[in-house]
Amino acid sequence: SFSQAIPIEKIRYNEQGLVPAIAQDYLDGTVLMMAWMNAESLQKTLETGETWYWSRSRHELWHKGATSEHIQKVKSIRYDCDSDALLISIEQVGDIACHTGERSCFHQVDTTKSAPPADTLSEVFRVICDRRDHPLEESYTCKLLAGGDNKILKKIGEEAAEVVMACKDHDSNAIASEVADLFYHTLVALAAHQVDLRDVYRQLQQRRR
Ligand code: AMP
Ligand code: ZN
Ligand code: ZN
Ligand code: ZN
Repeated sequence: SFSQAIPIEKIRYNEQGLVPAIAQDYLDGTVLMMAWMNAESLQKTLETGETWYWSRSRHELWHKGATSEHIQKVKSIRYDCDSDALLISIEQVGDIACHTGERSCFHQVDTTKSAPPADTLSEVFRVICDRRDHPLEESYTCKLLAGGDNKILKKIGEEAAEVVMACKDHDSNAIASEVADLFYHTLVALAAHQVDLRDVYRQLQQRRR
């Protein structure tokens, strides 16, 4: 559960008494939405451990998810160098933050829609899943997936051995390169078995104390 002191009186609100709050996925860092808070909504957010914003169009406190049920469970709150912006790490219930039904409000690029960037591992995993779901000629990932567990697991074994060798050699470049290979092939195994990378992240986060 959430317990954190943030100095509400130290936050520098604008002329309207508002401060921008950016909500970010606590697992993969995806920027999900931006909305406004005032001192009261920040207070309620701290009290309840769920995000409350200020709706400028409806002129009212807005419990995110009140109608959509897509509430946001707060993991941490931080403020920036001059205390005029908030960054809120959240667990997004339903995995949908935008009222359009998209996961993130930042899904618009020019006139097309695409997922906003997350961390590099997540980006690579997204491409691997895309290859799985929309196979491409000449794709190494597709060849691996077509080879099934036999081919994929053999590669994981080989790459793990290469990581071991690189570490024994104290070869920094080789270690980075072989761990990259191992990560990639492990992501292919996840995709082949329909396991989400975020479930791995969740396991790692749960082990934090
Ligand atoms: P909700 O808080 O998710 O129940 O949504 C209630 C209303 O808040 C919606 O009808 C929208 O008007 C607005 N809303 C919800 N999510 C967002 C968002 N990410 N950005 C802007 N407005 C939103
Ligand atoms: Zn600032
Ligand atoms: Zn939106
Ligand atoms: Zn290798």
